[in-house]
Amino acid sequence: MRLVIMGPPGAGKGTQAQVVAVELGVPHISTGDIFRANVDRGTPLGEEAQRYMSAGEYVPDSITNAMVRDRLSQEDCTPGFLLDGYPRTLEQVNELDMMLLADEHRIDRVIELTVDTDAVVARLLKRAEEQGRSDDTAEVIRRRLEVYFDQTAPLTAVYTQRGLLVRVDGMGAVPDVTGRILAAVTA
Ligand code: ADP
Repeated sequence: MRLVIMGPPGAGKGTQAQVVAVELGVPHISTGDIFRANVDRGTPLGEEAQRYMSAGEYVPDSITNAMVRDRLSQEDCTPGFLLDGYPRTLEQVNELDMMLLADEHRIDRVIELTVDTDAVVARLLKRAEEQGRSDDTAEVIRRRLEVYFDQTAPLTAVYTQRGLLVRVDGMGAVPDVTGRILAAVTA
């Protein structure tokens, strides 16, 4: 099973992806998590990524694509994977296609978590208080949402055209949303 989960910042992608990946027995690959781990370790990749993340901008495609290519080439991804936060640009969609094509693989399904914007802003501000993620300030949140709707929301059209997109209501209790995603994936 090769899956992608999309949705605006604060939609609960990370929370859901973690649980769904365990259920499906595939690795959960979150580009945001990988970037943050690199920031914490102070690696050159982390230093570079941090400049963009702290402003709510996307890390350049060249950097992100190389990182994902490396991760997907690892052995645990052979049976499948759940990509969370990638692809986010058309260039990333094309690059991912090429990474998979090399092994005659393709994406099986794309889940789009839908939420209302007021709710996501409230969630992100709450998370800021609890976890202190440096890109969860009101101003950066606004920019992240803008970038999402500008650059990433259009990708749903691409995956709809390929017949891969499934929209899942991301509002409500966490286990309810998980149930909806699993139903959508196995349908
Ligand atoms: P969120 O979905 O809430 O923005 P993530 O943890 O998925 O949170 O991403 C945090 C940040 O990491 C993004 O704002 C961006 O700077 C960077 N990032 C993550 N994935 C990508 C990607 N595919 N392309 C470019 N930048 C990315």
